[in-house]
Amino acid sequence: MEYIYADNAATTKLDLDAFEAMKPYLLEEYGNASQPYAFSRSAKKALREARITVAECIGALPEEIYFTSGGTESDNWAIKGALINDGGNIVTSQIEHHAVLRACAALERFGHQVIYIPVDSAGIVHPKLLQQLITDNTQLISVMMANNEIGTIEPIAELAKVAHNYGSMFHTDAVQAVGHIPVDVKVLDVDMLSASAHKFNGPKGIGFLYIKKGTDIRSYIDGGAQEFGMRAGTENVAFIVAMAVALKKNCVQMQRTEARILQIEQTFLSALTELGVPFIRNGAGNRIPGNISISIRNANGEMLLHRLDLKGICISTGSACDSKHTQISHVIKAIAVPEEYAEGTVRISFGRDNNIDEALKIAKMIKEILKISSNYN
Ligand code: PLP
Repeated sequence: MEYIYADNAATTKLDLDAFEAMKPYLLEEYGNASQPYAFSRSAKKALREARITVAECIGALPEEIYFTSGGTESDNWAIKGALINDGGNIVTSQIEHHAVLRACAALERFGHQVIYIPVDSAGIVHPKLLQQLITDNTQLISVMMANNEIGTIEPIAELAKVAHNYGSMFHTDAVQAVGHIPVDVKVLDVDMLSASAHKFNGPKGIGFLYIKKGTDIRSYIDGGAQEFGMRAGTENVAFIVAMAVALKKNCVQMQRTEARILQIEQTFLSALTELGVPFIRNGAGNRIPGNISISIRNANGEMLLHRLDLKGICISTGSACDSKHTQISHVIKAIAVPEEYAEGTVRISFGRDNNIDEALKIAKMIKEILKISSNYN
């Protein structure tokens, strides 16, 4: 079957140049980057250069980049590694990825208080609200740069400013943002930032955590001296090299890619409207390009996902059914999508490999499925 892949917020296709770049470090230059002999020199150099490239792409210093196994690890490190004193609390938003929410829940089990900031109907975390909820004991604030379900881009620089005014550390989960929109840690003035390669056409299972020099954070994995003694374990040089190539390429092509994706996005939304599909689009005006969360009136998102799957179309949903109930995602609940729309939430996320024809096919197929499964006409 020929697939139409429109779930790029879940993962992306590996970039061919990134794939080619990593091959030598698997097959020929496979030395352990920590070893002193000449054979490892090339792996060591590749690691150093990849760190410089990644740092340049987000306006950081190379020694502020710590390679990890991906977004989940980076988020867990930032949250669990922050030195929260007894009585110290953490503030995060209600719409974070589970990598942040469950890391916070783990800290709650150790007795720390976590304050969850509500968002408005577009999914925005308002700096004024943060200012009201922050306390003298707030030691860490974690708000994502862009939401994975609805694409909303948060006012990170303003939120970080509030945090710093209160002497708190600020972390952002930028997994959906890095490689897709400009990210400069100095402009944002964040203390920590998480990223994951497979969201920007790099390999799965590799990512990084930016930690601003001087940030008070403990090591995450103890063992060898890798990653400046903060995250032990033999470095995955091949994947790190591929991540750097993919990130640089996405950053260089960012504007062009965005223009193309926005065209595809617009075509899809216009087609849905013309076909008479009763939907609302979720998220703020300022979104990650290609991330389209729609809620369709009186529809069932999970049914739609499965029917589209039978036609070879890959999308995602904002709700999941167990045998008895439909569970609306925490994000869709937090933005208070009207009841008659909430269950019919799906996320279509276009990426650089999609085209207009695919967008039109998905819109037509959605209409067709809705016609069969309900009394839409
Ligand atoms: N944070 C966000 C916002 C995400 O979208 C994801 C992945 O879906 C993650 C964290 C987890 O990243 P990884 O899959 O690299 O562990």
